[in-house]
Amino acid sequence: MQNSVSIRDLSLNFGSVKVLQHLDLDIAQGEFIVLLGPSGCGKSTLLNCIAGLLDVSDGQIFIGGKNVTWLEPKDRGIGMVFQSYALYPQMTVERNLSFGLRVAGMKKDEVERRVARAAEILQIEPLLDRKPANLSGGQRQRVAIGRALVRDVDVFLFDEPLSNLDAKLRSDLRVEIKRLHHRLKNTMIYVTHDQIEALTLADRIAVMKNGVIQQLSDPHTIYNKPVNLYVAGFIGSPQ
Ligand code: ADP
Ligand code: MG
Repeated sequence: MQNSVSIRDLSLNFGSVKVLQHLDLDIAQGEFIVLLGPSGCGKSTLLNCIAGLLDVSDGQIFIGGKNVTWLEPKDRGIGMVFQSYALYPQMTVERNLSFGLRVAGMKKDEVERRVARAAEILQIEPLLDRKPANLSGGQRQRVAIGRALVRDVDVFLFDEPLSNLDAKLRSDLRVEIKRLHHRLKNTMIYVTHDQIEALTLADRIAVMKNGVIQQLSDPHTIYNKPVNLYVAGFIGSPQ
């Protein structure tokens, strides 16, 4: 089967600092991949390269078999959800969801159909007339996910979407995201430094250190057979 996302020999330097070093990663269609590692290891940088928000220093990125390395973010078939919700404060939830589609010139009834579907999936129908200031953190994050959902993309990118939320909401939304993935069966690339999130969500976990993937395996293998002390210390079972 064709890979959904392929990364070939990807490097990114900020000045003389090598943030990502010769990364290779193949992600299958419909796979849920978690990029896991401590703060500063390069997770967001990798995600932003895939999204097209950062230019790579070297290497190539393929999405759906197409070389997207130098394409605009909007032309990559991806939707991104950030840690901070990045909602438009002056717009209602409905507008937040529909704005991008309207700007792209989509027909009104198709916009309405997509917004209604996303609102149903994320259970935010009662919130459509509210503004972000009148939503809880969890509700805002649902709307942020909804904004990626309405675009009907093949690949979802999440950058620590739950880290601003309290523990109870985090675990609720974790279940929600898993349910979403079961329903949509799209490819998800999910960045976190939270071991529990990684173990519960991922089909495979890529454990990163200093811009290098140390181990790429399913949660069971990562947990029980860490390849080195770093992985063991970060996520593995106590030895
Ligand atoms: P993570 O998401 O894993 O916490 P990042 O990808 O944000 O890590 O950052 C990786 C490294 O790149 C860090 O050392 C960070 O300081 C550095 N970095 C990130 N963005 C920039 C930038 N715009 N300019 C210079 N260095 C940066
Ligand atoms: Mg980050």
